[in-house]
Order: sequence, then C-alpha cells, then structure tokens
Amino acid sequence: MIKKISVTTKILIAMGIGLILGSFINAFFHESAFVETYLVKGLFHVIGKAFVNALKMLVVPLVTFSLICGVCGIGDVNTLGRVGFKSFGFYIFTTGLAITTALLIAIVIAPGKGFEQAGMTAAFIPKPSPPLTDVFINIIPSNPVNAFAEGNMLQIIFFVILFAIAMLMCGNIGKELHQLAEKLNEIMMKVVTLVMNFAPIGVFFLMAKTFSEQGLGLILPMISYFSVVILCLLIHALGTFSLLLTVFAKLNPIIFIKKMRPAHIFAFSTASSNATIPITLQVVEKRLGVNNSTAAFTVPLGATINMDGTAIMQGVATVFIANVYAIDLGVSDYITIVGMSILASIGTAGVPGVGLIMLAMVFNQVGLPVEGIGLILGVDRLLDMVRTAVNVTGDATVTCIVARGENEIDDSIFNNPDAGIITDVALPHK
Ligand code: ASP
Repeated sequence: MIKKISVTTKILIAMGIGLILGSFINAFFHESAFVETYLVKGLFHVIGKAFVNALKMLVVPLVTFSLICGVCGIGDVNTLGRVGFKSFGFYIFTTGLAITTALLIAIVIAPGKGFEQAGMTAAFIPKPSPPLTDVFINIIPSNPVNAFAEGNMLQIIFFVILFAIAMLMCGNIGKELHQLAEKLNEIMMKVVTLVMNFAPIGVFFLMAKTFSEQGLGLILPMISYFSVVILCLLIHALGTFSLLLTVFAKLNPIIFIKKMRPAHIFAFSTASSNATIPITLQVVEKRLGVNNSTAAFTVPLGATINMDGTAIMQGVATVFIANVYAIDLGVSDYITIVGMSILASIGTAGVPGVGLIMLAMVFNQVGLPVEGIGLILGVDRLLDMVRTAVNVTGDATVTCIVARGENEIDDSIFNNPDAGIITDVALPHK
C-alpha cells in the first residue's frame, strides 16, 4: 500500500529541489539575461512573492479571532495578566540567554581576527532605526483601523486584548460575540489549511529565487563569521531550548523539535516570523497540544517581541566587526550590547532583514563603525532564514512553558506523533 505523504514532506522535498535549482542557476547561468529576467526576477519572484502575500493575508484576521477566543477562553483578567507577565518575562529571559551565549562563544572563537580587509569593505548606509522611546508609546494605537490596515502586530494585540476584556465584562452580549469569534476562528484555520496546499509550490519558488541570487559561494570569504553565528544558533535551539523545555515544561525536546518542522520550514523560506504566525499557531495548538487560550496570546506576541536568533546574530556581528577593525570592547560595552539587543528584539517586527537595521543601532551605541555592516551584508539573507527559524522555535518554547504553568497543554496530543498532521484538503464540489 502506498502511504500518503504529508504536506510537510512535500514541502520539504520542494524546498530541497528549489535550493538545488537555485544554486545551480547561480553557479552556471549567473550571466544569462534571459534566466535573470524571465526566471529569477520573473516566474520565481512572482510566485514566491504571491505565496508570501497569501501567508501574510492570513495573519491579521487569524490573530484577531484567535486572540478574542484566547482572552475569552482564559476568562478572567487576573489570569490574563499572569499569562502576559510570564510570557513577557520568559521572552526577555531567553533573548538574554541567547545574546550572552553568542557573546561568550564569539569572544572565545574570535572570528574576524586578522581578517583581510582589502577589497572587502563595502559601504553600508543604515536606514534610520526607530527611537526606542517610540517603541513603547506606539504599542497603543491612536487609530486601531490604521493598526489593522498596516498589520502592526503589537498595536493589534493591544487593541484586541482590550476589546476582548470588554467582551468579558459585557456578560451575555460578549458571550454571543465569543461564539461567533469561535466560528470565525475555525473557518480561518481552514483557510490556513487551504493556503498550505499551495505551500510546496510557493516554497519551491521562494527557495529557487533566493539561492539563484545568493549562491553558496558568498559564504566562503565570510566563513568564520557565518559558522560562529550558525554554531550559536544551533547551541541555542538544540541546547538551551531543550533544557528549558525539559526543566520548565517537562516535555520531551526531541518530540518538540520533530513536530516543529512545518514552522521551521516556513520560517526558513520566508525569513519572517510574522508571516509564519499562522503555521506556528497551527503547530503549537494542533501538534504540540497547547490550548488556544494560551497560544493565541503568546505566539503573536513572541513573533513580535521575541527574537533570540536575531540577538545571536547581533552579538556575533558586534564581536566580529570589533575584531576586524581592531577595536577593544570593554565589559560595559558588552553589557550595553546585551541590553540593546533585547530592546531591539522587542522593538522590531518579525520581518525579513530587520535584524540588520537594528544592528546599526547597537553599533552606534558602542561606537563601532556602522559601515562595517557592509562586510556581513552578503551572507545576511541566508543567516536571516536560519535565525528566523530559531526565533519561531523560541516563541513555541515559551508558549509550551507558559502553557504548562497554566495547565493548558494536553500531553496526549504532544506525545501522539500523528496529532494535527496536515494532509491535503479536498475542495468541496457539487
Ligand atoms: N527575519 C527575522 C524574523 O522575522 C528578523 C531578523 O532577524 O531580521 O524573525
């Protein structure tokens, strides 16, 4: 009997083929205007981008309905406050651990010592990073419609939570709306599944485009920086998260990592934690067994304020550039870097490449030359893909930990290897 392969396996295969095709084009058809115009910037770009748009399309309605259900499901403001406080605390804690690990490892390995600067210096003109005071002021939307239109996650979360609390306070009227939100949420989850049917195609084109443009050859001159970032990301994702999951959530980290695969694939191919929210939510609820009332709250929050992978890149990049320019950093500089990376991770949305923009802010703070960022620009897209997968893993880890504390995780779902596997959905026809 032929076993039906899951959508995830199909996506994984598509991803591999896209990667190989892209690298092949980069190596052999780099100069061809036809390939460049019609394939890479044409077909690959259009379908890849269309797929990312389809994912982004899901985020705002899904987060809204799911968060209303979440808050109403929690049922009282005290519990909500506790969940909020715990998740915020754990998000800051894991980012702190991430950046500290990155700094320690980078200081020991010292990438960039004796780095040949000749011919490598590329100019980097930083985009202005938002002032940090604004980050806090802007959590409150002056116009919620604007927040929804722009997809500003922190503002949406703020408004929806307030709205849902008011629903709780309105008794029966609120209950009716809650029931409606439950139905809408269910339907949105189905829309996610529908879009997921096209994921193998979308992911294939996304990978083909990225690797046609990037090529793996870019890594070679930057191998020391690249490998230290990857090493730290692996240590954090496989070591630190596993430890936290075992100690605080009493969960088996191997099962966790296996079940996170769909979220990893999407984070890797889109390089955006925000665009991955629909898949992270689905994995966390249906595969890991976390109740919607916790996940609806912690997942979008994490995608917005928790970026462990990004903090790791920033830590290693700072040490690397300091080494290249032979600038000595003192203990107070390192403390500043830790603080700045945590704030940068809170203040930026999970979209491609923002980590690099915020790095300019960290550099300014400790007096490193911002144009040094030009050196690491070439490999950033690839690192962005990997670190986004780590960012999303962090969101799911903290979600499980908070859910365990609240008794909101179903171990029978977590331990069931087949729970929530996404299969093809047949479209209804008459
Ligand atoms: N792309 C990352 C994310 O969405 C952020 C970054 O590091 O640039 O999580």
